Amino acid sequence: MSSEKASIVDRVLPKTTATIRAASGLASNDIKFYKSLDQEVSQSSERASNRLLSLINQITNSIESVDEEEITKDTLTESWKTVSNVLDALLEKSDLAFDGLRNQKNPNNEAKNNLTYINDSNSLNSNNDLRKRIEKPQKYFKKQVDNSESHPFRPLLTSKPNSIISLKDSLVLTDADENNPSHYPHPYENEILNQEYNSAILEKSEPINPTDWESTEPIWVSTVDDLNLMLKDLRSCTEIAIDLEHHDYRSYYGIVCLMQISSREKDWLVDTLSLREELQVLNEVFTNPNITKVLHGAFMDIIWLQRDFGLYIVSLFDTYHASKQLGFPKHGLAYLLERFAHFKTSKKYQLADWRIRPLTPPMKLYARADTHFLLYIYDLLKNMLIESDKLNVVLFNSREVAKRRFEYTSFRPKLASKDEVYSLVEKDEPWKSLLYQYNLPASKTGIVKALYDWREQSAKNEDESPRYIMPNQLLVSLTSAAPTDAAGVLASSSMITEYVRKNSKTVSEIISAALKDGGNEDLNSYDQQNKNNTETEVTVENVSKLQELYTLINTKEQLTPKNFSKKSILFTKQMFKPSKTLEFTDGKLISNKLDRTTRFKEIRDALDTFVAIELEEITQKQTGEIKETPPEVNTIIPEAEEGPIKQDPDEIIVLKKKQQHKFIKTKKSHDEAQEATDYSKFDKLINNDTKARKQKKRPVSKFDPYAQESEGPKPAKRQFNPSTGKSSSFRK
Ligand code: AMP
Ligand code: MN
Ligand code: ZN
Repeated sequence: MSSEKASIVDRVLPKTTATIRAASGLASNDIKFYKSLDQEVSQSSERASNRLLSLINQITNSIESVDEEEITKDTLTESWKTVSNVLDALLEKSDLAFDGLRNQKNPNNEAKNNLTYINDSNSLNSNNDLRKRIEKPQKYFKKQVDNSESHPFRPLLTSKPNSIISLKDSLVLTDADENNPSHYPHPYENEILNQEYNSAILEKSEPINPTDWESTEPIWVSTVDDLNLMLKDLRSCTEIAIDLEHHDYRSYYGIVCLMQISSREKDWLVDTLSLREELQVLNEVFTNPNITKVLHGAFMDIIWLQRDFGLYIVSLFDTYHASKQLGFPKHGLAYLLERFAHFKTSKKYQLADWRIRPLTPPMKLYARADTHFLLYIYDLLKNMLIESDKLNVVLFNSREVAKRRFEYTSFRPKLASKDEVYSLVEKDEPWKSLLYQYNLPASKTGIVKALYDWREQSAKNEDESPRYIMPNQLLVSLTSAAPTDAAGVLASSSMITEYVRKNSKTVSEIISAALKDGGNEDLNSYDQQNKNNTETEVTVENVSKLQELYTLINTKEQLTPKNFSKKSILFTKQMFKPSKTLEFTDGKLISNKLDRTTRFKEIRDALDTFVAIELEEITQKQTGEIKETPPEVNTIIPEAEEGPIKQDPDEIIVLKKKQQHKFIKTKKSHDEAQEATDYSKFDKLINNDTKARKQKKRPVSKFDPYAQESEGPKPAKRQFNPSTGKSSSFRK
């Protein structure tokens, strides 16, 4: 890089990073308030937003294939998708350009750097076409989707090939106990834990090259005949690679749209929408312990397979866990593909609408690439693992993934970790997180809960995702505005969804009912008082009182000026909302120029919320849901112990003595596997400092990319999560 360019990067990057950090530190709903406080703030933010808008328009217009209208303030939210497509396209172009540059520089490296790319030059347009409305495939499912949650999830299995325990004995409801409602256990758990892997997995072998990418084509499987032909081929394999594509926007639980399978010779793309009810025949291969199933980051695939098709996997090898054990710098499939197969995939289809038919050519390429090279990569990783004596741990972790169980939210066990049982909503009072995430006063609890429940119920009834019904942002706007008539609902946000528009009357009635609800009367009247300026002064003395109160409740850790801001960002935010400026010098609260006042009661409410959240986290820690310092490797305490079957990571082949060991679980799959996906291009762009990246340790992020809650821009975060990685290419 020339020194001039380097200096631009040096100057611009820190500023960008600082700006973005500062911006995300602001709670979005406070901005209006700040603007009303100070004319200068208001004017300069106006100028900045106009300037940003014009930059956005310039950038989108500079992409020739985008033929969009000018984006204005009013259309910004709707145009978000366009902007993100443009950014994607630009990032990928610069990726390509970087690779080009690198090759020019090191002509000797050309052979090594000769990456194959997915050819999707026209994808920007085709991607835009995809946003057209399509008919819901659920309509054509033979068995209609059942979102009632009126009983525990019953495995869809109708026969049980490769069984040790018979089908009949596997489909027995357990007795309920205080922590776990009556449920159907994972029907293949016993087989997963006891069947021997194919012995080929134990020995190093010469890696087998994948077939040529350019000159071969995937086979499209959409009829029962196609399926049987594929099955015939699969029966004779020693190992196969599998992947799935999933859609969860226009469906409550989500639907698997595509299954990719690769053998050493062929790639298949299975249309799981048209073959949804026919796929169980695959259990013959999927549960055959002699055929190793290679998947990358299978923690959700395992859930989706059993939920939609009644498919289970015995003899899983998860390349994500191999990557973890081998200590690779990144654990996504893209990294493995680039490093070992010299293939550069494109991330943008990960979130494409996989329901469309026919799939576009680049979507097919993307899907095929997810499994085409995986067996070759498996060969290489397996050899490395045997060499470093880590194969056993990887197989152990893979079995833990394979025995994950899907359950409906209402039958979710209270204590089991999310690693073992997956359900769509994993918290007891999920709407509470909205309250604190969006900085809402405790007096709004009733409305938030009512809207949340209505959204959940509507989503189930309509078989839509909650975020399709009403994104969090809209729910929060409605909560703040609390409109009590239909017109008010329509006027309360620029992001009204079609569903809320259609049901604006109902929504207003729900809000009215929540407002009238006795439980919140005192809080409401308290808010009312505030409006009438019944004010109590906030003084340093009052703050100290609070501090005492807080310390009293949270005896574990004294609140000190040092940890004050760190521990209780949320608390301070609530406390000094909405008006004041606090000054901290050397971490000490020295003065507060609180022109207006704070309300002692509101502080107490905020404190209650805060303490409740803290307590919840402490309880979760105690029950093992969150682990602060996870041990690096699985630890075994050799001590006899009754209870659920636990396995011994050192035993690969014969696993029958497992009950002698108590196994301490590491923090695992669920939280970490999200690293396997790459959703933060923007994050990467602003953080390419290698040192910062290496100097871990990453906080355990609780963001779940697959969660229904997962959606667009978020308000101020409670915790800053450092970027997970690098900007473009993975090679040195
Ligand atoms: P993959 O195994 O990477 O092909 O992903 C399988 C499916 O997981 C995709 O079809 C998406 O539905 C979902 N998925 C993958 N990555 C993400 C992400 N970053 N955010 C949300 N969903 C994702
Ligand atoms: Mn996958
Ligand atoms: Zn995939």
